[in-house]
Amino acid sequence: MTEAPARTRGKVGGPRPRWFPARLVGLRSETATARTLTFQVPGWPGHLAGQHVDVRLTAADGYSAQRAYSISAPADGEQVSITVQEVGDGEVSPYLEEGMELGDQLEVRGPIGGWFVWSPSSEAPVEQPVLLIGGGSGVVPLMAMVRERARSGSRAPFRLVYSVRSPEQVLYAAELAELSSTDGLVVDLLHTRTAPPDAARPVGRITPEDLATPPGWPASPPPRAYVCGPTAFVELAIPLLLDLGYTNKTIRAERFGPSGG
Ligand SMILES: Cc1cc2nc3c(=O)[nH]c(=O)nc-3n(C[C@H](O)[C@H](O)[C@H](O)COP(=O)(O)OP(=O)(O)OC[C@H]3O[C@@H](n4cnc5c(N)ncnc54)[C@H](O)[C@@H]3O)c2cc1C
Repeated sequence: MTEAPARTRGKVGGPRPRWFPARLVGLRSETATARTLTFQVPGWPGHLAGQHVDVRLTAADGYSAQRAYSISAPADGEQVSITVQEVGDGEVSPYLEEGMELGDQLEVRGPIGGWFVWSPSSEAPVEQPVLLIGGGSGVVPLMAMVRERARSGSRAPFRLVYSVRSPEQVLYAAELAELSSTDGLVVDLLHTRTAPPDAARPVGRITPEDLATPPGWPASPPPRAYVCGPTAFVELAIPLLLDLGYTNKTIRAERFGPSGG
């Protein structure tokens, strides 16, 4: 039987996502062009690491625009956090990245997505290793998984391969460094345009060598890969994973839309 191509799957079961009013209660700058926004969402049903929301902004004249944003942190009561990377000529992201102030309101719909999710397994004798591959802001839902692993105390082997243009654009840099030194998380940064002087790897796009299985991972169960980023990045990474022996059953992918490089 031919397997379905690795792709974003629809939501599996669960109540239909609905719109909720959301009030901005937290702001944190991540880089010069990205920030994390935390919303208080009365009635929020909770979510899984990897899910996303639709965000809807409505102007006084009734014009509205909506975009999808991954949730960047595990479930925490009625709070929902997203991290927005500003797209220079974009309509919505510059407002979220620069324009919104604490107390401002918008609407969120979710949680959305039942396939691109990770939860700790309490039953498996050996936890399934996880390879996370993020391009640019595609690291956001992967960070929710990394944080969920730390929060739950899971010992699943986790490796994050994070492709980013330059060191200045790395999201969550301090937290990733902390988790890699204290929590067994393996983080490999791939710089595509500018690398720090001490970087072991030359600048360039992701290669098969970048995705090789780290030493110490169990032979079974086979690792699962989560790939997220601009469409072009995801389309580049998936064939590399298939060549390495991953299958459409062990690859889960989320595409962020137009190619941003
Ligand atoms: C499931 C899902 C989850 C997402 N999660 C996040 C997230 O966690 N953080 C985040 O910052 N973004 C995320 N996005 C992308 C987000 O939905 C918007 O596409 C992005 O913020 C641009 O919106 P905009 O209104 O500013 O730009 P638009 O006005 O829609 O587009 C302006 C210009 O930018 C180009 N463009 C649009 N989107 C992108 C993009 N993603 N990369 C590069 N160029 C683009 C367009 O082709 C156009 O030329 C996600 C998208 C999806 C589908």
